[in-house]
Amino acid sequence: MNKTILVVLDACRPDALIQAHTPYLDSLWLTGAYTWTAQATVPSYTLPCHMSMFRGVPAAKHGVTGNTYSPSAQAYPSILEVAHAAGKHVAVFHSWEELRDLAAPGNVDLSYYRAYREDEDTDAIVARIAADYVIARQPDLTFLYLARPDYIGHLAGWMSPAYLAAIEQSDRDLGVLLERLTIAGIRDRFTLLILSDHGGHGHDHGSDLPEDLLIPWILNGPSIRRGYALTTPVRIYDTAATLAALLDLPVPPEWDGAPVREAWASPTEDTRP
Ligand SMILES: [Zn+2]
Repeated sequence: MNKTILVVLDACRPDALIQAHTPYLDSLWLTGAYTWTAQATVPSYTLPCHMSMFRGVPAAKHGVTGNTYSPSAQAYPSILEVAHAAGKHVAVFHSWEELRDLAAPGNVDLSYYRAYREDEDTDAIVARIAADYVIARQPDLTFLYLARPDYIGHLAGWMSPAYLAAIEQSDRDLGVLLERLTIAGIRDRFTLLILSDHGGHGHDHGSDLPEDLLIPWILNGPSIRRGYALTTPVRIYDTAATLAALLDLPVPPEWDGAPVREAWASPTEDTRP
């Protein structure tokens, strides 16, 4: 079984990830399986997209169509709930309060929330706390949410220099976790899934334009193909099913998403560095 770490860079466009200087993210896709044309859900807002990511269905099904939670989403189990019910250790680290509804209360072993603030480096603090916990407890499923690219996108505009710099800072925040795993000698116990919830254009997102809908989707781990560009169309709601498969858990029948098995290395393929 793989231990899994899901990392969301809020509102990171694939073309921005390619333009920005992101050595940690680059190392993950260069030695992992990836696509730059994964699809978010419509409307491309943060909560609908996260609900699809965790609950395995498009927004048209789960019914969360804005940044306000709707109990209709409970008809579709969250990967956090599925993993917890199977006895997996689940940990969540975030800075946006609405993400509390990614799972019903009592389904997460540790939930760390620190409200995002302009006058501090909230993402760096959250990422450091996540790294400390992952090293100490080695959860089966960890979710780390990085808010800055979305915040700066709204402020300075998508693809602006400040927005690209925000993605570079997210790369360094993720790098802290990767370096800590490597130093602890446990990096190869974890499979990472990195994506964004949606893109953006101008100073906003939410539309069905490709700039808003296309997202990067990167899988990197010991059983994953290396430097492999996926050809399967990947939907944001395939994320939950892919995590379930990595955790050796059955995919709930309620989900429309499927594991992106094209990313799996064949048993004979040498995936060592
Ligand atoms: Zn977002």
